[in-house]
Amino acid sequence: MDDIKQSVLNIETLGHIDHGKTSLTKALTGVWTDKHSESIKRNMTIKLGYADTVIKKCEKCPEPEAYTVSDTCPKCGGPAKPVIRVSFLDAPGHETLMATAIAGASVIDAVLFVIAANEPCPMPQTKEHLMIINLLGLKNVIIAQTKIDIVGKEKALESYRQIKAFVKGTVIEDAPIVPVMTNKGVNIDVLLQSILELPRPKRDVDADPLMYVVRSFDVNKPGADTSKLVGGVIGGTIVKGEFKKGDEIEIRPGINVSKDAKKDDYKPVITTIRAMNNGTEDIDEAIPGGLIGISTGIDPTFVKADNLVGNVVGHTGKLPEAKSLISIKYSRIARDDIPEQSLHEGEALIMGVGTATVVGYVKKTKKDKADIELKHKVCIDKGEKIAILRNISQRWRLTGYGMLQ
Ligand code: ZN
Repeated sequence: MDDIKQSVLNIETLGHIDHGKTSLTKALTGVWTDKHSESIKRNMTIKLGYADTVIKKCEKCPEPEAYTVSDTCPKCGGPAKPVIRVSFLDAPGHETLMATAIAGASVIDAVLFVIAANEPCPMPQTKEHLMIINLLGLKNVIIAQTKIDIVGKEKALESYRQIKAFVKGTVIEDAPIVPVMTNKGVNIDVLLQSILELPRPKRDVDADPLMYVVRSFDVNKPGADTSKLVGGVIGGTIVKGEFKKGDEIEIRPGINVSKDAKKDDYKPVITTIRAMNNGTEDIDEAIPGGLIGISTGIDPTFVKADNLVGNVVGHTGKLPEAKSLISIKYSRIARDDIPEQSLHEGEALIMGVGTATVVGYVKKTKKDKADIELKHKVCIDKGEKIAILRNISQRWRLTGYGMLQ
């Protein structure tokens, strides 16, 4: 597997709303990560917003000017050679969706933390996102200071000092701060160089493969000739191991076959990998990194409209058991806007498990341990982190996480 064909880094973009995350992602990838856009959907941009880019280097120009995402060097016009492929995940700002970001932690290698110079630092979501970075222990962080062109030098420097003070004493105290002018393309090369300098994660490719399903869809056009129908496509991110074209795979917990709307009866699905795609081209084998689309033999009606999101994929018989009763160790996030409160019996929770979001009820609790009954079965392994949202003053708030016991 080379560094161009499959992404070597999954970089999550975080930051306060309107601080320029999406524009910056567009400048770095050429893709507008708008989750409502049909064309992006075709490009397999997931709910979180997912886009790949290949960082290229001009061999004639000095660093950092040599770095670009174009095929030709913007400085000298000469050819730029591909170095690595990276993936950007544009996390949603909405709090209830933060659970997905936390649950996706095992697929995040680095963070591009976007902070705008035209507002005081920290803004509420900036604060919240630093809390998540801290919680997940993400150390590979680059801070992009945006909108410097609309504030002028004095204010940009003042903003820089505020950012420095804000991150002091946290895991990202020493993170590089790169001021950028997204629209004018100023310092994008420096940002690309910082990304290239990030440590590469070690991929466990020898383990039994495991993929989280983040998208599932029917690629057939409505009314298509039934003899020409193609099986359902699942899009996901591989956490460990390797999948090969032709592999027999199992999807768990699978499809709900219950005729009773009030009851769940999930049956695992066994199928074959007919083809795989990295978002731009077909590939025969896939390891962790970026988003992978798998073409299967599943009846497309079962996969349409993200029906399989929240499932996990592995080799047949090698996946964790699907459970509806789990035991967790609860860790509270220290946040000053929510009173400290332990979980109580009978309380309803929203939980982010892998890419699944499920409702759970606290059955029993003792100190920081709790037994929770889930409304739907999930596949999860010991030691995995589950994001926990609690209903506080009529709002679902992210209050902590549970470690599966
Ligand atoms: Zn050049």
